[in-house]
Amino acid sequence: MNLAVLGATGSIGASTLDVVARHPGRYRVFALCANGSADALLSLCRVHKPRYAVLSGVAEDPSLRKKFEQEKVELLFGPRALEDVAGHPDVEVVMAAIVGAAGLASTLAAVRAGKRVLLANKEALVMAGPVVMQAAQRSGAQLLPIDSEHNAVFQCLSGNPREGVRRIVLTASGGPFRAASLEAIAAATPEQACAHPNWVMGRKISVDSATMMNKGLEVIEARWLFDLPPERIEVVIHPQSVVHSLVEYVDGSMLAQLSNPDMRVPIAHALGFPERIASGARTLDLAALKTLSFDKPDDARFPCLRLAYGALGAGGTAPAVLNAANEIAVEAFLGTRLPFNAIARVIADTLDAVPARRAEDLEAVLAADAQARRSATARVTAQAQAA
Ligand code: NAD
Ligand code: MG
Repeated sequence: MNLAVLGATGSIGASTLDVVARHPGRYRVFALCANGSADALLSLCRVHKPRYAVLSGVAEDPSLRKKFEQEKVELLFGPRALEDVAGHPDVEVVMAAIVGAAGLASTLAAVRAGKRVLLANKEALVMAGPVVMQAAQRSGAQLLPIDSEHNAVFQCLSGNPREGVRRIVLTASGGPFRAASLEAIAAATPEQACAHPNWVMGRKISVDSATMMNKGLEVIEARWLFDLPPERIEVVIHPQSVVHSLVEYVDGSMLAQLSNPDMRVPIAHALGFPERIASGARTLDLAALKTLSFDKPDDARFPCLRLAYGALGAGGTAPAVLNAANEIAVEAFLGTRLPFNAIARVIADTLDAVPARRAEDLEAVLAADAQARRSATARVTAQAQAA
């Protein structure tokens, strides 16, 4: 089967290619895509020998093109090339692993072309859930969740009638600041925020985990993937990150999926589906683990989770506004232009300032995204001037 990896140079991209390499002959790597890191992409091309490589954030560059040609890889440039590759007639499976709103267009291109889409880019569903799900229904595209929580729910739902589902429970590690004082959280640095206790991930999702906006985005993602109302999607803190999520049925049974925290597990599940294939993850040693604990999320410490539920309840373009404001605030925090505990404030103020509109097409979503980015950027600037 021909596979395109969007976001090949990232954390999920690396884990995907690791699993693919464990199963020679199962997948042909057809295309590898990255934003700007030409050298990293070239190294991947030497190993995986795709037909195409894409640098979507780079303008046409003949000398770069030559370098890739020497590896017998055709290098394409710009964001349109990303969409072309995602919807290419020879591609059967697309790993959508670009971070942020930048992944929406190519994810949607793959969905519209009816591909099997391995969905890591949660922001696409957060921004444009109804648009993506309708496109999938129309084209027959199959969405397989890669986010560990959603992959767990997907596994726990399989083989059971949907009418029997009472609720789903998404687990959250609580991130690096789960037990930190409010003072320590206020003074948090990017390095501290990116030092996740259980997972090694890209910097944006690491900060999202530290604010718990990641779980908020995942609640919205789950709402669309599993077609459940927000009141039937719950979040529980589970610091060990071993139970990846749960489904409760009306008879009181709860099904959970467990593994060591290793993204190769959900990736292998989706790459092999419906078969099971080896992922390279260590087997889970329950006796060594001894304890699994669960707790309620602390709203005072993690206001972003409530902001996400609020945006989901407001509906329309509100989740797109939430997502855009979050991206601007996280980028400012990573660039040390915004304190950690101002991230939530920027998002809350942006949600207040940008009215939610109907979101039935992509244009409306992109307009809300652009307006929210302008509004959030102004708030970050004002905050920097006040400090
Ligand atoms: P990352 O930062 O490690 O990698 C991002 C990838 O996207 C890189 O290949 C980069 O070149 C590409 N990219 C960045 N900006 C781009 C742009 N403007 N245009 C095109 N490509 C661009 O991120 P990651 O941790 O691998 O996360 C990727 C996605 O998967 C995110 O949506 C994240 O929420 C989701 N996810 C990640 C994990 C994890 O463990 N890393 C777990 C669950 C979900
Ligand atoms: Mg997750």
